Amino acid sequence: MSQETMAGKRDYYQVLEVTRSATAEEIRRSYRRLARKYHPDLNPAPEAEEHFKEINEAYEVLSDDDRRSSYDRFGHAASGMPGGFGGFPGGADPFGFGSASGSPFADIFETFFGAANTQRPRTPTRGADIQVTLAIEFEEAIFGAEKDIEVTRLEVCESCDGTRMRDGQQPPACSVCHGSGQVRRAQQTILGQFMTSTPCSACDGTGVTISDPCPDCRGRGRVARTRTITVSVPAGIDENASLRLTGQGEASPDGGLAGNAYVRIVVKPHPLFTRKERTIHSPLRVNVAQAALGDELEVETIDGPVAFRLPEGTQAGQQFRLKGRGAPSIGGSDRGDQIVTVQVVTPRKLTPEQRELFAQLAVSLDSEAPRVEGERTFFSRVKDALRW
Ligand SMILES: [Zn+2]
Ligand SMILES: [Zn+2]
Repeated sequence: MSQETMAGKRDYYQVLEVTRSATAEEIRRSYRRLARKYHPDLNPAPEAEEHFKEINEAYEVLSDDDRRSSYDRFGHAASGMPGGFGGFPGGADPFGFGSASGSPFADIFETFFGAANTQRPRTPTRGADIQVTLAIEFEEAIFGAEKDIEVTRLEVCESCDGTRMRDGQQPPACSVCHGSGQVRRAQQTILGQFMTSTPCSACDGTGVTISDPCPDCRGRGRVARTRTITVSVPAGIDENASLRLTGQGEASPDGGLAGNAYVRIVVKPHPLFTRKERTIHSPLRVNVAQAALGDELEVETIDGPVAFRLPEGTQAGQQFRLKGRGAPSIGGSDRGDQIVTVQVVTPRKLTPEQRELFAQLAVSLDSEAPRVEGERTFFSRVKDALRW
């Protein structure tokens, strides 16, 4: 990560349009408002997506107490985001301790002793990912396409702004766990007394009581919405590839980041072409005369028909390579090849003249297979054929 990246980063508070003394709740509300304003689905402006990412990055840091306080002290260098520690040569730690957020032992102590002194704020859950299948044409897989897909997903309820309460009021803290979402209990073991925490059953671990639920989402904070999303399918994509659309999954139930949408690609079969990685395969049907004599032909490619010279004496099953008529690699400009496999089509019905010509050919050509000797020799059959 270069120094320019760090220098070019905007202040996270400025990004979220809050003051440095903003409360966690103020930051959350501002994040929601901005995320909705700049969500690429809802805002077609070209800079919206970049802005949306910036908002999410800022929120990821400022919504986490530890990371926020490191950021307050050391700026972007300590935020743990791209452009952070990587900016120091050799990854050196200029602050003299292992982690910018405090003692590296803190977590270990908490694990063993149940966080006796600190009550960590709950980290918001990320929204669920969603899976969508997108069927595209063979040509679209080669050249890329813009496709609209419909997704149904849970989004933050607009009536309550996700607070789950009528008109977006703040829900009161749960009276059982006093807002922590955890119920702590001392447990006696042979090793001594341990403190254990379990999610509060009164509030399902959310720490709040929904005393006056929002009527639109029935107190859930999220509602199902069907949206049309435009997917840019890159040229060269192949069957079963999966595209990730960051932040296009379901909204978080508690103010965290949205999940991702994964679009699995299914390529519809083509009547003529098949594909193996970057190589396109197609059959080329020619008659026996063309195979024997050679011909000037047009061969179908994914770019349209191209001139092709079939050489004299072409065998059934023989393959020819058309350079650069295959699929591109994703993100690359060079293309694979097309391989054409010759199918020699033997006529099923002959006119009298054709039959005579073949019979003459039969006399003149050497047979590759041994003939039946006896009464009906090869030549007697030829004579039969000529006797019309
Ligand atoms: Zn609601
Ligand atoms: Zn509770």
